[in-house]
Amino acid sequence: MKEEFENCGIAGNTAVDSPTDLAMEYKIVEIFHSIQGEGAKCGIPHVFIRFGKCNLQCEWCDTDFETFTTMTAIDILGEVLKFDCRKIIFTGGEPMLNDLWPLHRLLKARGYELSCESNGTIDIPEGLLDWITISPKDQEYPNVSIRQRTGNELKCVYVGQDLSLYDDLKHGFEHLFLQPCYIHSQDVEWNGKNFALTEKVVKDNSPWRLSLQTHKWMGID
Ligand code: SF4
Repeated sequence: MKEEFENCGIAGNTAVDSPTDLAMEYKIVEIFHSIQGEGAKCGIPHVFIRFGKCNLQCEWCDTDFETFTTMTAIDILGEVLKFDCRKIIFTGGEPMLNDLWPLHRLLKARGYELSCESNGTIDIPEGLLDWITISPKDQEYPNVSIRQRTGNELKCVYVGQDLSLYDDLKHGFEHLFLQPCYIHSQDVEWNGKNFALTEKVVKDNSPWRLSLQTHKWMGID
């Protein structure tokens, strides 16, 4: 084990960190402090840890998850501690492609609240996270099974799919959100039609609620 991992010099934990946890490597696209722009936690500042790689390739995906650097957990911790914020969102790409337990142990020991945004195709271990957002992509991939069927919020990108697609799945979640598909390369008219359609579907289908990507209007990440 490298010397730098034998003793974590980063403040905030009175217990001894595991050298194995500190040395764990992750593919990281970016780490940044911003406001959650979507869903039930809209408006709340978080530190976002965006992981590289995804097991799907949605046509509307706006994340370059193939451009990443490899960081150890101790490097990630050092970045996260720069921000005066104790709420973290693991996002991607698909964060659940990673073993998040080492990061969980290091961050929980320092009092962080941990959330994730996942496409639901991978089981999430019990107790790993404080808040689970599942955003299934079965409107794109009807044959991909959703394995994680419980969580705090179900957030579906609306592209005109029949909501009966979620009849079973929706019972496992406290909050149900429909989010209009926004494609940056499309014009205002195209995106506007999608917004209007989603608004109508939400009005006709309680308890689904509208989620908008407000961070995009503000021009922030
Ligand atoms: S699941 Fe999410 S990150 Fe993966 S390709 Fe689809 S939109 Fe992009």
